[in-house]
Amino acid sequence: MEYYYKFDFSPELVRLADRVEEKLVPRFAEIDRISKINSQKVHYAFRSCAVSDTHFVGTTGYGYDDRGRTVIDRVYAAAFCAEDALVRHFMLSGTHALTTALFGILRPGDTMLSVAAKPYDTLDKVIGLRPTCGSLAEFGIRYAQVELNEAGRLDFDAIEQALASHPTMVYLQRSRGYAVRPSIFVDEIREVARLVKRVSPESVFFVDNCYGEFVELSEPIETGADLMAGSLIKNPGGSMAECGGYIVGREKLVQRCAYRLTTPGQGKDVGPSLGQNRNLLRGFYFAPSITGNALKTAVFAAALFEEMGFECSPRWNDPRTDIVEQVIFHRPEPLISFCQGIQSGSAIDSFVRPEPWAMPGYTNEVIMAAGAFVQGSSIELSADGPLREPYAAYMQGGIIYDTAQIGILSAAQKLLDDGLVEVRL
Ligand SMILES: *Cc1c(COP(=O)(O)O)cnc(C)c1O
Repeated sequence: MEYYYKFDFSPELVRLADRVEEKLVPRFAEIDRISKINSQKVHYAFRSCAVSDTHFVGTTGYGYDDRGRTVIDRVYAAAFCAEDALVRHFMLSGTHALTTALFGILRPGDTMLSVAAKPYDTLDKVIGLRPTCGSLAEFGIRYAQVELNEAGRLDFDAIEQALASHPTMVYLQRSRGYAVRPSIFVDEIREVARLVKRVSPESVFFVDNCYGEFVELSEPIETGADLMAGSLIKNPGGSMAECGGYIVGREKLVQRCAYRLTTPGQGKDVGPSLGQNRNLLRGFYFAPSITGNALKTAVFAAALFEEMGFECSPRWNDPRTDIVEQVIFHRPEPLISFCQGIQSGSAIDSFVRPEPWAMPGYTNEVIMAAGAFVQGSSIELSADGPLREPYAAYMQGGIIYDTAQIGILSAAQKLLDDGLVEVRL
């Protein structure tokens, strides 16, 4: 394999990368197969919703009768096999989309039951695990969680027991977030959905689908979840959405979320698209293919860093349900070098050196590498990790495998240069 000579990777690293890429041929073929079918699914959704170039025209002010906004909701609903969708550039992050859904569904006295241990770090304050102004706890909403079993997987017996208390919402986070646990497959989500329907059919089963979209051939909604949400600067925005979030699911539930996002009564009928319709539609159209590139990048990184003696999760040949790759270092120095290497291999802000800092919403100091066209976009190659045991980098994204590989090799080279690799290449 050839690299543009000015990148200056050591010959040993290039030889290793060659060997690694050879063994990935069948993995890449499987990723191509899935992204082909998902691309066709999205293509079909565009046609069945009669998307037209007139939908690219944006509105301002109240945004009444924004035809583009309406068709985007229909396309998302069609592609995700949901009754309805709420896709808005003014949902400002994945956390905002999840928060909108939590406050949209839950009422004082209700209980939220998380069935895959504690959710993503930014939700701590939303739930009110620590006293926080405006949290669900302040509104009298209770929270409970079921721990994972010893293998780090869903504990179905414990979930069944907890469901006997008939929680208003059953909450499941598909991707691992900043936890050291495997991500949850759509087949497992189907099992939880069956259990909810049997033991507590009135509960709303809500899935945090961040980083999971288009990784498998079906999505949680198709397998029995009532509602799911995610971020548009991750998979479904296809790197072209400049901001935004989505919520899809049963029509009544989506409406409640819309009433929370804008106002009771106005719901989905207001909200100017401000010229974002084309980006959202085009990004969604590219999303399955972009997700495929991110998956290839993750698998390549896993294979390469395993050969360099680091622990990776998932392993390179494990089945996958999200685009996140965890490289576990067990000490801070290689985590910092790794993130700095990823940053130096980016197209944007390659000259910047990331350092750990106390980010708003997070508990520990976090180091983040992100050279992206859209600020904070993690469908573009990015790596981050909290400075705490086990000092793991969470790496994701890569919109073009060919150049994302430069990012991965830059991280590997930085670890070599800093003397942090113990294996002889
Ligand atoms: C990214 C992510 C979120 C939301 O994060 P934002 O940075 O607010 O978009 C929530 N849950 C999981 C599992 C995530 O990966």
